[in-house]
Amino acid sequence: MPLVTTTEMFRKAYEGGYAIGAFNVNNMEIIQGITEAGKELNSPLILQVSAGARKYANHTYLVKLVEAALLETDLPIALHLDHGDTFELCKDCIDNGFSSVMIDGSHHSYDDNVALTKKVVEYAHKYDVSVEGELGVLAGVEDEVSSEHSHYTKPEEVEDFVKKPGVDSLAISIGTSHGANKFPPAQCTRNADGILIPPMLRFDILEEIEKRIPGFPIVLHGSSSVPQDQVAMINKYGGSLKDAIGIPEEWLRKAAKSAVCKINIDSDGRLAMTAAIRKTLAEKPGEFDPRKYLGPARDVLKELYKHKNINVLGSANQA
Ligand SMILES: [Zn+2]
Repeated sequence: MPLVTTTEMFRKAYEGGYAIGAFNVNNMEIIQGITEAGKELNSPLILQVSAGARKYANHTYLVKLVEAALLETDLPIALHLDHGDTFELCKDCIDNGFSSVMIDGSHHSYDDNVALTKKVVEYAHKYDVSVEGELGVLAGVEDEVSSEHSHYTKPEEVEDFVKKPGVDSLAISIGTSHGANKFPPAQCTRNADGILIPPMLRFDILEEIEKRIPGFPIVLHGSSSVPQDQVAMINKYGGSLKDAIGIPEEWLRKAAKSAVCKINIDSDGRLAMTAAIRKTLAEKPGEFDPRKYLGPARDVLKELYKHKNINVLGSANQA
């Protein structure tokens, strides 16, 4: 099956009350972990590439690895640019094999965001490539995208923003955050066991947006849950992650049943892979064959993405 755009995926996800996992890819083992999980569960997938991933692995390598995954899985897969910040970057991905791009103009003024997004949409749609725009700013750090403070999406802006540039989906800010340290402890509460609980997502803003643009696919970035057992394993085997905290999976499951059709998960994969590699190397200090620690890490990733597709996104058996 060739790459697909997100249009049909999102239509079905909206109607079916589930979301598509958008997972970041950087190398072969990650792509295999994600797509083998998708294949086993028959889940549609969005594989997304950031500017940082292109710098690390090279655009052509990533496209060819994803092409290999298409041959091996026969799933509906979209290849998506995550956080494109310029027209030129988006154009380069559109011209070279991607089926979807994000243009993130959320750091600009509203009018400049509209103008930049419109320019990308006009180009992308000529080549049947779908476009995600963003309104509102997420806090946190992810590759080259970072912001100290979040600004929630203003529901009163969404109709105009969706119409003017003509985007296919819209990323919004309702309290999710990039990275593995999503909230300083001071912003959190503690439950009876002393576990940090992050501030509640602004489901009221999501509902208001849904009312204003019914049927329109919404995207959540920064939606890793930062499982504390993975953080503990990294720290047990020599790591030093402090105050790592994510978004509880139940909250994301609730969002996936709404207008949210795409949920971005990156940090959880990074944590799981690092924990698995640290564990193997600590338990087998004589091991020096990269396959012997990358292989188990790939197995752990596959289990993680299966769990996400079934329990968080609800995308199993929807391909
Ligand atoms: Zn993001």
